[in-house]
Amino acid sequence: MTTTTTDGPTAAAGQVTVLGLGDMGSAIARTLVDRGYRTTVWNRTASKSAPLVDAGATAAATAAEAVAASPLVVVCLLDSTAVDEVLGSVDAAIAGKVLVNLTSGSPSQARANERWARERGAEYLDGKIMRDPPYVGTPNIMFPFSGSRSAFEAHESTLQVLGSIAYHGEDAGLAAVEFMAQVAVAYELLIGFLHALRLVQAEGVDVAEFAERIAGSVVAYPPLLLSIGKAVKSGECPPDLGSLNVQAALMDDMISHRESIGVEAMRMRQVKELMDDRIAGGHGEQGFSSLFELLAKRR
Ligand code: NDP
Repeated sequence: MTTTTTDGPTAAAGQVTVLGLGDMGSAIARTLVDRGYRTTVWNRTASKSAPLVDAGATAAATAAEAVAASPLVVVCLLDSTAVDEVLGSVDAAIAGKVLVNLTSGSPSQARANERWARERGAEYLDGKIMRDPPYVGTPNIMFPFSGSRSAFEAHESTLQVLGSIAYHGEDAGLAAVEFMAQVAVAYELLIGFLHALRLVQAEGVDVAEFAERIAGSVVAYPPLLLSIGKAVKSGECPPDLGSLNVQAALMDDMISHRESIGVEAMRMRQVKELMDDRIAGGHGEQGFSSLFELLAKRR
């Protein structure tokens, strides 16, 4: 995987088409206009192109007309249903273009889009967006890409204008894999955090002050994440956070404490179940990372 960051205005900017002018598509088109790209825009609700036209973009009457205007076509729509509808209306006009789809979606949708483009003589890059519209055009927004390597290399300097970028490989689904995994980690972490806030509030502790202390203690997590990643890759799971035998001894107290103050204990019960399962299998001397072994079969 290669990662690069935005490097300021591009001197010899080219032509780009942007399909979709919601909050994100508008931020992308606006950034391209501001960096000197000859930008053609199209949106289902045509009125949304007005601010961009005022800024210097050209509005096309149809998606196919917009696609015809530029060698590089960026799509940023609500979801895959919208992408299918818009690309359906473009159809053969995509031949010879590089199609960059930044719409959120699954790996299988990305792979289907890649086939669609290839069958029509276009190159396909799938990209995902990992932050909000105000960060577009800064290094503080990440765009993972996957798909055509030659398309990525040919348009890397343009893509860098949007933010920090990383190329994950020729399989068009890999950017979506990265996106979904990153989003999943965020949700899992944050729902755990919300449970902890519920717990401390139930005990009369100030939740904002507790949040400050947690913000201070999460700096210890990056080394732990790296060592867990290595442990899972090697299959050797040393007693990170102590052995499972020791960790499991705490779980009943964790669960009963939550239940005694009326806080949902479902997540702790799941952790305990996994630890007990591992210990019963003779792996009690291993660490937390060894729970990984049980996660594939629990669908
Ligand atoms: P918006 O709701 O602001 O815009 C949605 C866009 O999709 C509009 O251009 C809308 O057109 C178009 N659209 C919806 N359905 C259709 C359809 N059937 N046919 C044609 N066009 C359609 O969403 P965002 O711009 O915020 O998001 C765009 C993508 O970016 C999403 O996939 C989102 O997950 C992703 N993203 C957004 C982030 C954010 O914070 N906003 C952060 C990270 C990713 P119309 O104007 O006519 O309704």
